[in-house]
Amino acid sequence: MFKYDAPPALLKDKIILVTGAGSGIGRTAALTYASYGATVVLLGRTTSKLEAVYDEIESNGWPQAAIYPMNLEGASEQDYANLAATLEQEFGHLDGLLNNAGLLGELKPIAQYDAETWQRVMQVNLNAPFLLTRELLPLLRNADHASVIFTSSTVGHEGRANWGAYSVSKFATEGLMQTLADEEDGISQVRVNSLNPGGTRTAMRATAFPGEAADARPAPEEIMPLYLYLMSTDSINESGKAFHAQR
Ligand code: NDP
Repeated sequence: MFKYDAPPALLKDKIILVTGAGSGIGRTAALTYASYGATVVLLGRTTSKLEAVYDEIESNGWPQAAIYPMNLEGASEQDYANLAATLEQEFGHLDGLLNNAGLLGELKPIAQYDAETWQRVMQVNLNAPFLLTRELLPLLRNADHASVIFTSSTVGHEGRANWGAYSVSKFATEGLMQTLADEEDGISQVRVNSLNPGGTRTAMRATAFPGEAADARPAPEEIMPLYLYLMSTDSINESGKAFHAQR
């Protein structure tokens, strides 16, 4: 497990956007960032789940969050531009972007993989992070040392039978991360890395491994040290790298 001791005010005054913030790892990351002092922009497709996270942040007395409901599957380029304009108006810059939302799709051999599911998975896991990050780049460049995290997977590093579009989207995510990191190197203070959570106890994991015992994998809370490290100024010299939360 990646180890990092975060001081309580680690993310004080930072503005961090988390996608898929209503449930799973994204929910825990949003709560964790808020608990360390960040103002978190909660983006997701289910408003009621985002509201529950918002309320939890408020009841703990952490910095007030912002809610931005958005379905990454159907969002247009204009939707992303509108989001960027709203954040520009509200905050003027963005310190962190956690591209976390993801879709598993179906676990089937390529020979039988449904083309429509393939497109949906690519849209949520790859195209949406591309569009979102592109639109938010000016705001990230406005910050001192902004951090962009793309969420990867073990099957984004090695192909595995039946993981289809999910695996391919995560390989491509690594390519997107490396390309952007190289482009920003030397021209901005934006750092760009990928993060593989490793098998983690969430709804997605339960769908992918239905026979697995509920407590077989760590809870999202246990993998937060790497999420904190990559958003903190301790990682300002890290860019273009693939990180693994459980190694
Ligand atoms: P979950 O399925 O539990 O959560 C996925 C999140 O993404 C949910 O908040 C969901 O929102 C959101 N989401 C899905 N589709 C859309 C969409 N179209 N628009 C907006 N938001 C959307 O997954 P995890 O928390 O387990 O996974 C988080 C990330 O970590 C993913 O990128 C995943 O690929 C990666 N990962 C997870 C591993 C694991 O073992 N859990 C292992 C390796 C990588 P809603 O709740 O509203 O549906």
